[in-house]
Amino acid sequence: AHRGVWKNSHLPQNSIASLKAAHELKLFGSEFDVHLTKDNILVVNHDNDFYGIDIATATYAELLAKKHPNGESIPTLEEYIKAGKKLKGLRLILELKTNKLGVERTLEAATKSVEMVKNLNAEKITDYIAFSFEACQKIHELAPKANIQYLNGDKSPADVNTAGINGLDYHFSVFKKNASWLQDAHKLGMKVNAWTVNTEDEMKSLIDQKIDFITTDEPELLLQVLRK
Ligand code: MG
Repeated sequence: AHRGVWKNSHLPQNSIASLKAAHELKLFGSEFDVHLTKDNILVVNHDNDFYGIDIATATYAELLAKKHPNGESIPTLEEYIKAGKKLKGLRLILELKTNKLGVERTLEAATKSVEMVKNLNAEKITDYIAFSFEACQKIHELAPKANIQYLNGDKSPADVNTAGINGLDYHFSVFKKNASWLQDAHKLGMKVNAWTVNTEDEMKSLIDQKIDFITTDEPELLLQVLRK
């Protein structure tokens, strides 16, 4: 589930309600986006702003001025993981967002995220994804056993693997442009994911190529395709 299960359930993206909805559908995992506030609180939201409040330059207390339409405040990563731990069988796919204030803040967010996952004993149910290659490397350094998938699509499987990162999560068009990459990654023992795959034709094509994971806004459709 990409940002939780929200589209057909009419829930806010990245809300705790959307995480619970992913568990109700018995999905493999639910993806969510993590940002660092000005006062070093990790929060879960897709955009750089939460209903107009810029996350990187706001305090957590300032973000509480706004709410999701379902009444939830912006979830902290701590709240999100604690909720996720109760949803047995669901993996937490933690996307570490690139901080607009620079790579140092991105790496700070990566370090704090790994610490949070460890402190909450959620290492066995958490996988990491990031567009920042430096962040993927940092997470690998701090959590060598973790599953990490690089998102940006600009590096070959061999280049990613050499850096110790054990997975790829690329836009599905990347696997069309580079037709051997999915199999190249598998030959290296890497796991492969594609985003954001919302049509039956694209889902079938990737399933035929034995992709490991598909990230989608349409998990109900993907479940139907998999049952066929
Ligand atoms: Mg994301």
